[in-house]
Amino acid sequence: MTVYLVGAGPGDPGLLTRRGADLLAQADVILFDRLVDPRLLELAPTDAQCIDVGKRPGQLQHQDEINALLLEHARLGKRVVRLKGGDPFVFGRGGEEAEVLLSAGIDFEVVPGVTSAFAAPAAAGVAVTHRGLSSSVTVVSGHVTDADAPGAVDWSSLARTGGTLVVLMGMAARAEIARRLVEAGRLPDTPVLVVHRGTTSAQASVRTTLAGLAAVDLGPPCTIVIGPVAALDLRATSTRPLAGLTVVVTRARAQAAALVSLLADAGAEILALPVIAVVDPPDGGVALRTEAARADTYDWVVLTSANAVERFIGLLRDGRALGRARLAVIGAATARALSAYHLVADLVPEDESAAGLVAAMAPAPSGGARPGRVLFPRAVEARDVVAPGLRDKGWNVTEVEAYCTVAAGPEHGVGAHELDLASGADVLTFTSPSTVNFYTQLAGRRRTPAVVACIGPVTAEAARRAGFGVDVVAAEHSAEGLVAALRAHFGAARPPST
Ligand code: SAH
Repeated sequence: MTVYLVGAGPGDPGLLTRRGADLLAQADVILFDRLVDPRLLELAPTDAQCIDVGKRPGQLQHQDEINALLLEHARLGKRVVRLKGGDPFVFGRGGEEAEVLLSAGIDFEVVPGVTSAFAAPAAAGVAVTHRGLSSSVTVVSGHVTDADAPGAVDWSSLARTGGTLVVLMGMAARAEIARRLVEAGRLPDTPVLVVHRGTTSAQASVRTTLAGLAAVDLGPPCTIVIGPVAALDLRATSTRPLAGLTVVVTRARAQAAALVSLLADAGAEILALPVIAVVDPPDGGVALRTEAARADTYDWVVLTSANAVERFIGLLRDGRALGRARLAVIGAATARALSAYHLVADLVPEDESAAGLVAAMAPAPSGGARPGRVLFPRAVEARDVVAPGLRDKGWNVTEVEAYCTVAAGPEHGVGAHELDLASGADVLTFTSPSTVNFYTQLAGRRRTPAVVACIGPVTAEAARRAGFGVDVVAAEHSAEGLVAALRAHFGAARPPST
């Protein structure tokens, strides 16, 4: 079996190579580094074993354990991916792992990655070489500063070599590095750029000089660029209008994926605060299971939320259990939830509302042997629009409680600490009136983020009634619409951030 030493890229999951993605998709075991984005692990089969071998600084003996794990899994005949930050052969100790595999006689393949040494400066607007400024770049480790250690970096020769210096793992020794370079003749006002978590939504950067490097206060991981190119700022100002902003997403985790990824693409830092939890109805779901078991005795099943889809369709063995029953949904999002079960809605009203659904349903056929039957699995707290409306049209409607929505608690990741963090964020998003109500209930008297953004007018109205000043209302009532409205709001108002 082959072990694959795969470069994960500098942070942004989009910077993984296609070869890396293919190998992840076939992996049995993945040994991944601390800085690897969890979204990359989602490319692996669901039953793949993902092992976090993240090294903490200063715990170098740990490498032996990683080597042992590599050998152990490879010898079991597993397809092993060793997923490493950046490029595996740039300061990642990937070379040592290759040596261990070589001497054990185990096949391996190296899949290069985008190294942070070049990608992090680029993400912060710096080209490491630039016509007229620098025609060479040297990548060095800032770890070893003892000049006598074997393989140590000779800072004074580097200072004389000129060109751009890129220092990885250099934050702990930054004062010492600056001192040695200046001693060897680099000017104290040589431009310096420090990039923290380059290419991720948490990217931050500081522009300074050699004289100012010691005072830069950014946590690891950071890449330090030293030389005239560090003064460049080649960032597009239009692409990441939400950079530097923390946005609270109150939507339930299961439904938040699209919104979260669009916000991250726009550069925002996301704070997930799923204020709504979906729990069993008071009867524990007994009635729902009974009706699901005789789903094929109905003419229609009406589903007005993705939660209803999950709860009801999830009980069926497969689509055939529906017999001839047709499916009516309230709108596109609910239809999408159905499509996850390979089911196509028979009716999606153009007017995506309870009233629109009632209007779009035909009247019950008259004169048949038995009245037309509709099953309506719904939230305990649903408004009384659908069932009475359909009865008016002659249908025999069976309502069954499928789930309850309640305010989330610490067991759902929404405790006092998370609520405090959210209140310190820049933007609070609401995607339904219930997100407004549950947030209000949970947040109590905490301060509200400066900007409140709502997915549509109904939600905005609920927010105003709850006492919020609403700054942004999406024109199109979807995750895309909400992010577009935020981009417009901030894109126009803010100068590019550092
Ligand atoms: N093999 C990796 C480097 C591993 S050494 C690569 O090719 O990128 C780890 C060091 O890389 C960190 O201490 C930091 O200096 C740098 N680094 C890794 N990810 C980074 C990121 N997203 N932004 C800035 N620097 C990063």
